[in-house]
Amino acid sequence: MNAPIASLYFVSAGMLLMGSFHAALMARSSDHVKAAWLFSAICLAFSLFQVSNAAQYTAGDLPAAVDAHKWVNLFLLLIVALIWYLVAAFDDAWYAPVMSHGIAVLIGVVIACNFAAPFGFRFSSVHPDIAVVLPWGERIAVLSGEPSAVSRVVRVVSLALMVYALLFSVRVHRLGERFASALIWGSVGLMFLTTGAASLSDAGTLKVPYLGGFGFLFLAASFSIMVRTNFSNRKLEQVRISSALVQEVERHEIAKQRFQHALNNDPLTGLPNRSGALDRLHILVDLNGLNRTVLAVFLLDVDRLGIINGTRGHQVGDQVLVEVSERLRHNVTDSDLVARLNNGGFLVAAGNLVGEGGVAVLYDRLAAALEAPFLVAGSELRITASAGVAVFPDDGGAAEDVLAAAELALHDAKRSGPGSLGVYRPSLKGNIQERIDFENALKAALIKRQFFLCYQPQVRASDGRTVCMEALIRWEHPTHGLVLPDRFIQLAESMGLIAAIGSWVIESACEQLARWHAMGYDGLRVAVNLSAQQLLVSNLEETVAQAIRRFGLAAANVELEITESVLMQDPESSIARLGALKSLGVRLSIDDFGTGYSSLSYLKVLPVHAFKLDRSFVRDIGKGGKDLEICATAIGLARNLGLDIVAEGVETEAQARQLRALGCHLLQGYFFARPLAVAAANEFLGGPFKSLETGAIPLEFVG
Ligand code: C2E
Ligand code: MG
Ligand code: MG
Repeated sequence: MNAPIASLYFVSAGMLLMGSFHAALMARSSDHVKAAWLFSAICLAFSLFQVSNAAQYTAGDLPAAVDAHKWVNLFLLLIVALIWYLVAAFDDAWYAPVMSHGIAVLIGVVIACNFAAPFGFRFSSVHPDIAVVLPWGERIAVLSGEPSAVSRVVRVVSLALMVYALLFSVRVHRLGERFASALIWGSVGLMFLTTGAASLSDAGTLKVPYLGGFGFLFLAASFSIMVRTNFSNRKLEQVRISSALVQEVERHEIAKQRFQHALNNDPLTGLPNRSGALDRLHILVDLNGLNRTVLAVFLLDVDRLGIINGTRGHQVGDQVLVEVSERLRHNVTDSDLVARLNNGGFLVAAGNLVGEGGVAVLYDRLAAALEAPFLVAGSELRITASAGVAVFPDDGGAAEDVLAAAELALHDAKRSGPGSLGVYRPSLKGNIQERIDFENALKAALIKRQFFLCYQPQVRASDGRTVCMEALIRWEHPTHGLVLPDRFIQLAESMGLIAAIGSWVIESACEQLARWHAMGYDGLRVAVNLSAQQLLVSNLEETVAQAIRRFGLAAANVELEITESVLMQDPESSIARLGALKSLGVRLSIDDFGTGYSSLSYLKVLPVHAFKLDRSFVRDIGKGGKDLEICATAIGLARNLGLDIVAEGVETEAQARQLRALGCHLLQGYFFARPLAVAAANEFLGGPFKSLETGAIPLEFVG
């Protein structure tokens, strides 16, 4: 090739064009969008500048060289304007854009002059000799001549701009913005280069081709490398961000699953909870619907779980629940459902059963599973569970309906006492509103003062003297009339109302006793019944002590009755609780004695003062069965243990005489008095004693 310099100009023009394209591409994702676009425009202008230079240097004569030179000038002026805009793009000062626009206008004017003047804006005249021979023999057309006035003005302005740009570059450099400062330093250097070289060449001092474009090529290349590094760093950052995002999403997914699991499962037993159970129940209902099989839904509620929690601690209660869940699980198949719906409430849904027989067999299996004693915290504990059962499809066509039916059945079972099974029947549905009303009325009864106490005397067998009055609660229901405790005490327990009702009973009974003492019945005692759950109330001792103190009573005149079956559910903790009550100085008695299967070993250590022989033994005492012997044995046992014995339910004189003959200390029953309202009780106390004739009782039974 005989024109290497011209070829180099074309090659550099191509590379600058590429650079322009590259910068334009980068501009879209750059942090410096405006600067990148400007850089792209500068590359393009430089590319065209190089092409016009090549055209000038390869021109055959002066007019062709001048024509090309005007284009060289045009692109040079554009480059100056663009570089200026580029510098201003990084300057936040208010005057930077103003200056840029001013310079653009000035350059516009110079461009017009450039094309209007015969030799372009730089020369007022040019030397005719344009040929320059380069060392390797190549001839190029380099113009030189007399600089024009415009050219001088442009030079002065460019000098001023360069000084400003230099000062600004120092500022940017100090701010430490690597990318921006490199660009600006490059641009400023370039401006120096182009202006200096152009001045020398124009004056004819230097007969060299204009090499500013090559210098810019270097700048464009370094810019590209910079952009690429910046880009790959961004890419790395993007990869880091997206992997962090993936991790976050995974973490979120795990958290969601955990949350879902926590929403649908009971943390203690690991069984599905109510919402989890309902989901599974839907599936079971659908499945049994398709197979035309029977699905039994049992709701089991561990009776008196509150007592276990209250007396043995929640940890023991929890162990019992875990054990219950395991026993239930072991007694159904894997495709059946066992769930824990609430505190002591479990659900067992078993499908593929054949008719009622299958349901009954399953219930027997579940009941038997819970019957075996529970070994917790080193001692044996027995529990019972009330159960309600409903079946799909007979009692409900949807999961919710069967569940609601089973709930009604359970509710019904609970009314029959602990350990009962309730089977759903449509009539239960009709009673439910009535029951809800009853429960609501019970809630309000205490505030509405609808409770009152009746008192039933306990008389001394030896002389018929009344020694104690047992307080028996009554509820004057606004529509049902008088309601007896058997109908609402258990309900009050399950509704959590018993503590408040119990405290009211203790207070009222103590107040009444104080009145009787004031009336002159010194030494008279009052007996108050405690329910199973009352034994759990942590401030029971305080309530009793406070009532005694408030009404100025001797503690020994207050007696607390606790049903034997309640005590025997968890004898060890009952003994501890009774011990605490006994330390107040009050008397304690075991109510309904003979019905709770007390073992002798416990009876010996129970800190009580009296047994109250259940009226079921007293009732048939004279009928020739074994009851007389049972009574005799119980009375003998009490006497041997040094305890008082009270016979409940004495209805006839014969019973009273027989019991007295057996050695019973105290007698209580309709024969002496029914539970009496206060006025009637006062009358009874003021009336004559009921003395019994002695004799006619076989002596061999005397204990
Ligand atoms: P209890 O403590 O064994 O009370 C004796 C029950 O037998 C009373 O029934 C009484 O009216 C009844 N009774 C008394 N003598 C005779 C008799 O000669 N023949 C017959 N057939 N029955 C007789 P009531 O008042 O209905 O109380 C039932 C149970 O309710 C009580 O049994 C007691 O466990 C409980 N209760 C009563 N009042 C309260 C109370 O204030 N708080 C608590 N927690 N329970 C109470
Ligand atoms: Mg009683
Ligand atoms: Mg009783």
